[in-house]
Amino acid sequence: MSSNSETTPATLADPTPKPQAPSGVAAIETTDLWRIYHLGSLEVAALQGVNLRIEQGSFVALKGRSGSGKTTLLNCIGGLDQPSKGEIRILGQEIGGWSERKLTEWRRTQVGFIFQSFGLMPSLSAYENVELILRIAGVKGKERHKRSVDALDLVGLTPWMDHRPFEMSGGQQQRVAIARSLVNEPKLILADEPTGELDSTTAGEILTLFKSIVRERHMTFLMVTHDSLVDEYVDEVLLLRDGQVASSLDAEPEAD
Ligand code: ADP
Ligand code: MG
Repeated sequence: MSSNSETTPATLADPTPKPQAPSGVAAIETTDLWRIYHLGSLEVAALQGVNLRIEQGSFVALKGRSGSGKTTLLNCIGGLDQPSKGEIRILGQEIGGWSERKLTEWRRTQVGFIFQSFGLMPSLSAYENVELILRIAGVKGKERHKRSVDALDLVGLTPWMDHRPFEMSGGQQQRVAIARSLVNEPKLILADEPTGELDSTTAGEILTLFKSIVRERHMTFLMVTHDSLVDEYVDEVLLLRDGQVASSLDAEPEAD
């Protein structure tokens, strides 16, 4: 080990080592994934055989019309919903056979979720909203404080730490939600229309932030979106149509 101690920029140190998957293993892989909802005698096939593979460290947008199954797919991948048929492997592990307890623990420690409506607790400050996640995960006080402060710093909210959601703009509230999703150092972030409530300038800032986080931390980021802005930020665009992946449109390569 080198004895050189470099000063760490405003990124989070990872005190809880996460299992590392070999580099050839996909971050997310689904095989013939179906989700059928039963509404009385009516069956709605929200997912109709989804096959996809998302590499580790990639930033991927999932697009498709309203009702095409985007949220259902994201929820299945995040273990919030159970597919009717098919397999989901996250970093090589098939999550279908996991108990509810194991899924909950996995979500708490290894997956970050970001939603369109931010999902913040209105009575808590920005700091408390972020710190709550670590409390739930059982992280000790001092460590909790340090990681919460670092996460808020990373999203540029240090001056707003003590403010409550209603005192902040939509973009700032979404930044709190982003800090909250990052504070556990997940390998995977799942976001459902995270810029849906934001004006285009703020959405652009948030997408820039996402991209830099993905690059810096080599995390995998799957984002459901309608936003035409995203194409220039992501590595790949997946299109869902009638519950199936219709095509995969590679984003234009970046100009240096
Ligand atoms: P998207 O996010 O692309 O708008 P969804 O995944 O929310 O699409 O929905 C896909 C289809 O599944 C839609 O026809 C929707 O009505 C149906 N659906 C979604 N969730 C449920 C549910 N909990 N119960 C019944 N039908 C549902
Ligand atoms: Mg949706």
